[in-house]
Amino acid sequence: MKKLTIIGAGPAALMLAAQIDTTKYEVTLCEKKNTVGRKFLVAGEGGLNLTFNASLEALIAQYHPSAFMEPSLREFTNQDFINWLNKRGVSTFVGSSNRVFPERGVKPIEVLKTMVDHVASRGIQFQLNTTWTGWNTDGQVTFEKTGKTSEIVKSDIVVFALGGASWKVTGSDGHWKSAFENKGINVKPFRAANCAFEVPWNSDFIKIHQGKPLKNIALSFNGLFAKGELVVSEFGLEGNAIYALSRKIQDQLLTKKEVVIHLDLKPKTTLEVLKSKYKKSTRSKVTDILKHDLNLDRTAVGVLKQFTDKNTFSNPNLLVETIKAVPVVIKSAGVLDEAISTLGGVALDEIDANFLLKKIPNTYIIGEMLDWYAPTGGYLLQGCFSMGATLAKYFNALDE
Ligand SMILES: Cc1cc2nc3c(=O)[nH]c(=O)nc-3n(C[C@H](O)[C@H](O)[C@H](O)COP(=O)(O)OP(=O)(O)OC[C@H]3O[C@@H](n4cnc5c(N)ncnc54)[C@H](O)[C@@H]3O)c2cc1C
Repeated sequence: MKKLTIIGAGPAALMLAAQIDTTKYEVTLCEKKNTVGRKFLVAGEGGLNLTFNASLEALIAQYHPSAFMEPSLREFTNQDFINWLNKRGVSTFVGSSNRVFPERGVKPIEVLKTMVDHVASRGIQFQLNTTWTGWNTDGQVTFEKTGKTSEIVKSDIVVFALGGASWKVTGSDGHWKSAFENKGINVKPFRAANCAFEVPWNSDFIKIHQGKPLKNIALSFNGLFAKGELVVSEFGLEGNAIYALSRKIQDQLLTKKEVVIHLDLKPKTTLEVLKSKYKKSTRSKVTDILKHDLNLDRTAVGVLKQFTDKNTFSNPNLLVETIKAVPVVIKSAGVLDEAISTLGGVALDEIDANFLLKKIPNTYIIGEMLDWYAPTGGYLLQGCFSMGATLAKYFNALDE
């Protein structure tokens, strides 16, 4: 039997361990924390989106680069993942937004426990409190175990699944970057993705509207379009609609001091309908027309005022056009550690089509450690689980 060491015990690693052929491989799963899957549990705090209910083509299109993710997503689809969970007793349901959640009443820790119990029942060894530290001169991976000095784990094959670089408290701290760079591997700088963005609110606005939602809105930026909701924070804006634009906004912020995104406060109502409602209004104050005839709430009106000049505000046609495209100024991205996911990581041209590192023999990388992006909504976990399942299938077929 070949000795396979998986390092990092998040979703990508757990799915690999769940599907690897244990008659061919003696598998050890090393995790530096004293429990596994901490980020998965954090993901569960705000409502765990396990995957997204969409056709495979639509699902694949949400990933960047989608050509890289496509083979894994086809190998282990959203439906395969749902079936896999259902088979192990975890029921799921599709929410109104097409996000897939564990059945009501099933806690994220129970989902995790089901996965971990399944992996353990297959004879896979867990080594907790075991931090990977690098390679020795023979090329073997080295570890530090709490309370002990360094140790070597002899492995025929090593799979890294160390995660991205946000929410350090979960163990995904990106500290692995320098060790890989020292081996000549290109690791793209970490940047926040699916994160908050800074908006220069005026102080009067933010005093009143901090924490308030902007529901049923749409955002557009550079050809991207996202419906959803936003929350106004002291720092700026957060929420699924802006997360979906985060990669493109971040790319622009690399070269520009600020970027402008467009906010449609009434995506379900056409410009013509809004204009006609405005025209028919019998009220004299603009704010009253906005609130009572166009049904914009106080926060939406506040945002509109922030980004319109007096001339626009007093011109009905211009104002209604602006409701459909409020030019919101973005100054910067939120801090990396608070981001839901990470841009950057090991450059995709460092691995082959089977996740094998080209520069280090018998060494593979899966999960958020690699430089790919997906929006929130279950795509991130699906991507990680798909990579784990795909690599298991590849290993299982080796030497046949
Ligand atoms: C607040 C929040 C909410 C989220 N919500 C969702 C959601 O609803 N749906 C969704 O799809 N995604 C969500 N995500 C993203 C998702 O959780 C991650 O994309 C996913 O966990 C990444 O999986 P992974 O296996 O690549 O790595 P991780 O889950 O990050 O696991 C990596 C593991 O490696 C270990 N490790 C790191 N360094 C070492 C080392 N040197 N030695 C040993 N072990 C090490 C870490 O301790 C960690 O356990 C959310 C993330 C956050 C932060």
